[in-house]
Amino acid sequence: TYVIAQPCVDVKDKACLDECPVDCIYEGPRMLYIHPDECVDCGACEPVCPTESIFYEEDLPEEWSVFGPANADVFEGL
Ligand code: SF4
Repeated sequence: TYVIAQPCVDVKDKACLDECPVDCIYEGPRMLYIHPDECVDCGACEPVCPTESIFYEEDLPEEWSVFGPANADVFEGL
Protein backbone atom coordinates (compact mmCIF):
# COMPACT_ATOMS: atom_id res chain seq x y z
CA THR A 1 0.00 0.00 0.00
CA TYR A 2 0.94 3.61 -0.40
CA VAL A 3 0.90 5.89 2.64
CA ILE A 4 0.79 9.63 3.25
CA ALA A 5 3.40 11.15 5.54
CA GLN A 6 4.31 14.26 7.51
CA PRO A 7 4.49 16.85 4.69
CA CYS A 8 0.72 16.58 4.15
CA VAL A 9 -0.05 17.76 7.67
CA ASP A 10 -1.83 21.12 7.59
CA VAL A 11 -1.36 21.32 3.81
CA LYS A 12 -3.91 18.90 2.35
CA ASP A 13 -3.39 19.98 -1.24
CA LYS A 14 -5.69 17.15 -2.42
CA ALA A 15 -4.18 16.85 -5.89
CA CYS A 16 -4.00 13.11 -5.18
CA LEU A 17 -7.76 12.79 -4.83
CA ASP A 18 -8.30 13.39 -8.54
CA GLU A 19 -5.72 10.76 -9.49
CA CYS A 20 -6.80 7.79 -7.40
CA PRO A 21 -8.77 5.35 -9.58
CA VAL A 22 -10.39 3.65 -6.59
CA ASP A 23 -11.07 6.72 -4.43
CA CYS A 24 -9.24 5.29 -1.44
CA ILE A 25 -7.76 8.58 -0.22
CA TYR A 26 -9.74 10.15 2.60
CA GLU A 27 -9.61 13.52 4.29
CA GLY A 28 -8.82 13.71 7.99
CA PRO A 29 -8.72 16.79 10.23
CA ARG A 30 -5.10 17.64 9.47
CA MET A 31 -3.99 15.41 6.62
CA LEU A 32 -5.17 12.91 4.04
CA TYR A 33 -5.02 9.16 4.56
CA ILE A 34 -4.88 6.17 2.23
CA HIS A 35 -7.04 3.18 3.09
CA PRO A 36 -4.56 0.28 3.08
CA ASP A 37 -7.12 -2.36 2.08
CA GLU A 38 -8.49 -0.31 -0.80
CA CYS A 39 -5.25 0.98 -2.32
CA VAL A 40 -4.36 -1.00 -5.46
CA ASP A 41 -0.73 0.17 -5.50
CA CYS A 42 -1.07 1.90 -8.86
CA GLY A 43 1.25 4.72 -7.81
CA ALA A 44 -0.75 7.40 -9.62
CA CYS A 45 -1.04 9.63 -6.57
CA GLU A 46 2.65 9.78 -5.72
CA PRO A 47 4.02 12.03 -8.49
CA VAL A 48 1.20 14.59 -8.31
CA CYS A 49 1.65 15.45 -4.64
CA PRO A 50 3.21 18.94 -4.50
CA THR A 51 4.63 18.30 -1.05
CA GLU A 52 5.97 14.81 -1.91
CA SER A 53 4.03 13.31 0.97
CA ILE A 54 3.19 9.98 -0.63
CA PHE A 55 5.40 6.92 -0.45
CA TYR A 56 5.17 3.23 -1.15
CA GLU A 57 5.08 1.93 2.43
CA GLU A 58 8.39 0.08 2.17
CA ASP A 59 10.06 3.22 0.84
CA LEU A 60 8.97 5.50 3.68
CA PRO A 61 11.87 7.53 5.04
CA GLU A 62 12.91 6.20 8.45
CA GLU A 63 11.80 9.30 10.34
CA TRP A 64 8.27 8.90 8.96
CA SER A 65 7.93 5.16 9.48
CA VAL A 66 5.13 5.82 11.99
CA PHE A 67 2.93 7.00 9.14
CA GLY A 68 2.54 3.45 7.81
CA PRO A 69 0.60 2.26 10.86
CA ALA A 70 -0.90 5.73 11.28
CA ASN A 71 -2.68 5.55 7.92
CA ALA A 72 -3.99 2.06 8.72
CA ASP A 73 -5.12 3.00 12.24
CA VAL A 74 -7.43 5.69 10.92
CA PHE A 75 -9.60 3.03 9.33
CA GLU A 76 -9.45 0.53 12.19
CA GLY A 77 -12.94 -0.53 13.13
CA LEU A 78 -14.65 1.41 10.33
FE1 SF4 B 1 -5.01 5.42 -4.98
FE2 SF4 B 1 -3.18 4.32 -6.60
FE3 SF4 B 1 -2.43 6.12 -4.76
FE4 SF4 B 1 -3.24 3.69 -3.97
S1 SF4 B 1 -1.40 4.19 -5.18
S2 SF4 B 1 -3.85 5.66 -3.06
S3 SF4 B 1 -4.83 3.24 -5.51
S4 SF4 B 1 -3.75 6.50 -6.54
